[in-house]
Amino acid sequence: DIGIDSDTGWRTAGRPQLVTPHAHSHKYSRGLVVVIEGAMPGAARLSALAAMTAGSGYVVLAGEKPWQGGPDALVRRAFGTSTDLAEFLEWDRIDAVVLGPGLGRDGNADGYLRAAFAAEKPLILDGDALSLLGTNAASWLQSRQAPTWLTPHSGEFDRMFGFDGSKIERTLAAARATGATIVHKGADTVMASPKGAVRVLAGGSSWLSTAGTGDVLAGVLAAQVAQGSKGVQAAEAAAWLHGRAARLAGPAFYADDMIKHISEAVGECL
Ligand code: AMP
Ligand code: MG
Repeated sequence: DIGIDSDTGWRTAGRPQLVTPHAHSHKYSRGLVVVIEGAMPGAARLSALAAMTAGSGYVVLAGEKPWQGGPDALVRRAFGTSTDLAEFLEWDRIDAVVLGPGLGRDGNADGYLRAAFAAEKPLILDGDALSLLGTNAASWLQSRQAPTWLTPHSGEFDRMFGFDGSKIERTLAAARATGATIVHKGADTVMASPKGAVRVLAGGSSWLSTAGTGDVLAGVLAAQVAQGSKGVQAAEAAAWLHGRAARLAGPAFYADDMIKHISEAVGECL
């Protein structure tokens, strides 16, 4: 039920067609996501659990001392330095990397960002990774070969980009400037690709305005990317599943509650 918004004329995000496992799928072919844990580890946990529930075959939480709680199916990978992290990220089975949720901006954060860029894997940048890129985002990103998704809320977007115009125009300008797919979050989430494709998910649950929901979105997006979905199509699938999981978890909920409803939202798309 992807439609055209009568006010804006833009395509609205509707119930997506998801990538599903087939008879010969195995854990690596289903999409391997790595989530990098930083200074505030809870955020990366939410991303990792969301990626698992959203259909990735294999999720790794990589950190200096990765969280040992939670499901046994979540794979932990400890690394000592940014150099170790960079080496790990060369692993050719990796399909998508998430960096930024709870990363922090001090200490090793900058080194992790460099390691994530060096790997040239599909990359989802959120939260503090976006703040670290700041106004240099376009110059950092233009040289990348592998696809990138940026998932700023309006505060993060405004710190990175100075474009004028409507939210759609500004999001398109950011996508063109960076070569990345932009997921500009908020009450309306506007998604744009560098080639000018736009999707809007309007009318999201305002109960989503609570800590950690953006981290969940980053994980759901990583799962779509790791399963082979591209550009705004991956973004709109993630935004729809995220919004639907919020409805199913709510009205009032906290981000952890969304995780178990993601699989229900996926079920509605099959
Ligand atoms: P973050 O600010 O990074 O934690 O992300 C918050 C998430 O919740 C994003 O997916 C937003 O689109 C969504 N969200 C936040 N506030 C609202 C709102 N008032 N209405 C709908 N969605 C919202
Ligand atoms: Mg956030």
